[in-house]
Amino acid sequence: MSDCIFCAIAGGDIPGRIVHETEHSLAFLDVNPLAPGHTLVVPKDHYARLDDLPAEVSADLFRTVDELVPRVEEAVDADAANVGINDGPAAGQEVQHVHVHIVPRFEDDGGNPIHAVAG
Ligand code: 5GP
Repeated sequence: MSDCIFCAIAGGDIPGRIVHETEHSLAFLDVNPLAPGHTLVVPKDHYARLDDLPAEVSADLFRTVDELVPRVEEAVDADAANVGINDGPAAGQEVQHVHVHIVPRFEDDGGNPIHAVAG
């Protein structure tokens, strides 16, 4: 999609701090991190909502998230992580390209739950 920032990152048209890539998915650091190591995992092709994902793309995306959570935690020496999706504008989705947030959390960061991952 021509005016989508995550499509531009996936297509190499604008720089992204890419940390991992699979056949259907790309992981890169959030430009405005909620914590060190805040990572976004996206399908390479444009899908706005979770419900739009073909089964193969969805499986690849969530398998990638599953694999990356411990690696992201280890990379920044975190103790836990919030893993979340804002699915739709009314839920706070600001970029209309499916993305999963991995937000590292630390024993001393207050432990407050992130009910809606902020944009
Ligand atoms: P949402 O509110 O849609 O769930 O979250 C969008 C996320 O995308 C936010 O955390 C925001 O910081 C991140 N973001 C927005 N524009 C860019 C960008 O150009 N590059 C990167 N790496 N992250 C972005």
